[in-house]
Amino acid sequence: MNHESCGTLACVPDADHLWRSVRHDASNLAWHDDEKRWIPAGTALQFDPDWSGRWREHLIDIHGLGPSDVAEAHRPLVFEVQVEAIRMLGMKVEHTPQATDPTDCAHASTWYRTDGAQPTRPERALLRNALAVLLTLVHGAIAMPPPPGA
Ligand SMILES: [Zn+2]
Repeated sequence: MNHESCGTLACVPDADHLWRSVRHDASNLAWHDDEKRWIPAGTALQFDPDWSGRWREHLIDIHGLGPSDVAEAHRPLVFEVQVEAIRMLGMKVEHTPQATDPTDCAHASTWYRTDGAQPTRPERALLRNALAVLLTLVHGAIAMPPPPGA
């Protein structure tokens, strides 16, 4: 089921959210000691040159889909982040549909900087780590115990 806005660029409001599927293994998850929960590892958030997500509100409101529809066999966990929180890091979020069918019609891209500039390697690591902390698990279960001493 398509909608006339599918495949057409739309502005993603600050109040909306992105979903992102993540691999379930020790190299893609990191323990957040303050919040006592697993988050995606900053090093696992690949920017190439953008970081891909799916626009939650487009999928729910237009297609009646949920986070499980974004999960993949090799990426069974789905995390959510609010668009405004990403933008407050100075990053850019845009709707970048890659097809007219869900979920590609809800593809969204995050860039390190609004002006397209490429930050230095340490800056990129800081931004990825800041983004990782903003992500909350909304689908799938993490079957790893907290690290010893956590
Ligand atoms: Zn759509």
